[in-house]
Amino acid sequence: MYSRDYLGKTLKRIDGKGYKAYKDIQGSYDFKDFHLYMDYVQGDPFASPSRLRVRITQKRAGFPQELYSNKVRQVALEDYLTREFSSAIKKVIKRNRGTGKSGLIFIDSCGQEILERTSMVVNSSFVEARISMGLPARGRSVLAKEAADMFFKELPEIIRLSLLYNNLDKSDVKAHVETSEDQDFLRKEIEKLNLVSFIANNSLLPRRSGVSDLPMEGERVVDFSSPGEMEVEFNLPNAGNIKGMGIPAGITLIVGGGYHGKSTLLRAIERGVYNHIPEDGREYVVTVEDTVKIRAEDGRRVEKVNISPFINNLPFGKDTVEFSTEEASGSTSQAANIMEALEVGTGVLLLDEDTSATNFMIRDVRMQALVAKDKEPITPFIDKVMLLKKDLDVSAIMVLGGSGDYFDVADKIIMMDEYRAQEVTREAKNIASEYHNKRVEEGGEEFGALSSRTPLQKGLDPIKGRKTKISAKGLHSIEFGRQRIDLSLVEQLVDVSQTQAIGDILYFGSHFIDGKKTLREIIQLVLEQIEEKGLDVLSPFKGQHPGEYALPRKYEIAAAFNRLRSFHVK
Ligand code: ADP
Ligand code: MG
Repeated sequence: MYSRDYLGKTLKRIDGKGYKAYKDIQGSYDFKDFHLYMDYVQGDPFASPSRLRVRITQKRAGFPQELYSNKVRQVALEDYLTREFSSAIKKVIKRNRGTGKSGLIFIDSCGQEILERTSMVVNSSFVEARISMGLPARGRSVLAKEAADMFFKELPEIIRLSLLYNNLDKSDVKAHVETSEDQDFLRKEIEKLNLVSFIANNSLLPRRSGVSDLPMEGERVVDFSSPGEMEVEFNLPNAGNIKGMGIPAGITLIVGGGYHGKSTLLRAIERGVYNHIPEDGREYVVTVEDTVKIRAEDGRRVEKVNISPFINNLPFGKDTVEFSTEEASGSTSQAANIMEALEVGTGVLLLDEDTSATNFMIRDVRMQALVAKDKEPITPFIDKVMLLKKDLDVSAIMVLGGSGDYFDVADKIIMMDEYRAQEVTREAKNIASEYHNKRVEEGGEEFGALSSRTPLQKGLDPIKGRKTKISAKGLHSIEFGRQRIDLSLVEQLVDVSQTQAIGDILYFGSHFIDGKKTLREIIQLVLEQIEEKGLDVLSPFKGQHPGEYALPRKYEIAAAFNRLRSFHVK
């Protein structure tokens, strides 16, 4: 390890030289208050910025052990410090220090969810921030004075503001950690009561806009409150007693007039698989882990998925046991999305009429009379949803304002009325028996066989030119070799750093492919590796921090495999 002064001297020595001279500062430095690890030095002011880590001993940082005493607390504290580091950067850096990325400092940015990330490491020996930095240049020559300012003034100040416990708002840190722990607790606890989702009273579900995940503001926002019949109570380890609506396992309908808040409720349920930050409004909205949002996605590719429980007798005798297409229709894509989620183990499906194919959801008595069953390839979801429950113990929560046919199959019916939830099961059941439905059930005796596919190595090499190339292009797209994976309709993907991790998982996971293991087993193996060694294990770069990863769920990983156009199975 070099001294801080040695870094200063090196910078002086290379001042004004070609940018490549910056390579001389690679190495680690003892700054007394912290250690600086210059892991990777960029070759050009416009290239991806240099990667470094700053590490401060826990003795100096001073975080009480209870703030990171278990995994969920540790993740929440790391998340908190990432946010603090990020806002300290904004306060401290001067930014404009020359060409390209000169003068910039980056750390991963966080949204409303608390996710396991590679941006920060907290343990009993140290706190480490993993960041990147644009080393200053004029044109393409080293600007040593500016660089020295960044290393010797800005960086220590950012660290001082964000990584020392005594300089943080202690009650804020505590709340962040404890709220997250409470959410994990709730998510486990609801399962014991055979619930699949819980929405606490006073939660704030609507978001500011279609492009903002922040809570809606203003006087018109209606807080959530549970219908009396569905109210359940929990005793949280930190926040104490909490009441709210428990949605039981089984088949649940959310009905109500247009614009009355149905989709908003479902979206909150869908995000409840993740923990949220305090004051998000959804910090006590939790949903069991294995919940998957299903939608129609016409145009997507499908690779040998067994969609026969839903679709049969396609024109020209097209196979639906191993159904493949380069361009699925609304109904076949929705069927494939369900079968793929079941393949990796989902226990709860969420569907919204707004994003479903109508002919996949319903087929009413008049249509049954006109179009004979043997002329209709689709067995609608209404005829399979009970079999899903009976045969596979899979629950469903559906938003459906447009068809009362589902009253017959639902266990619970919630009506949204001016953003207020009411329980209307009995009323709806009465209506169902009064207006007797003559439609014929078409689902058969059993749900049908599931897919269990074995991936092949072919097509999983991300080669572009002579290099491997994998990179997230925003939240919803992965550049994988010469291809683009389109994830724009994968709705529970919430963070671009998850997308980045998924891209690298496709390649990392491909090493487990042996022509025998199933897709589910391969994803499981990857997640076990991550659990054991951390997300760093995915990184193709050895000897430097991996950049920005956040932990994805197995469903979104599977979704990426399934949408890669060169993905092949046996
Ligand atoms: P639906 O699915 O019933 O047609 P949405 O859930 O799309 O209705 O909601 C319609 C509008 O109402 C949206 O703009 C949404 O942001 C807003 N909204 C939803 N829930 C609430 C609430 N609790 N308070 C205030 N506005 C809400
Ligand atoms: Mg809607």
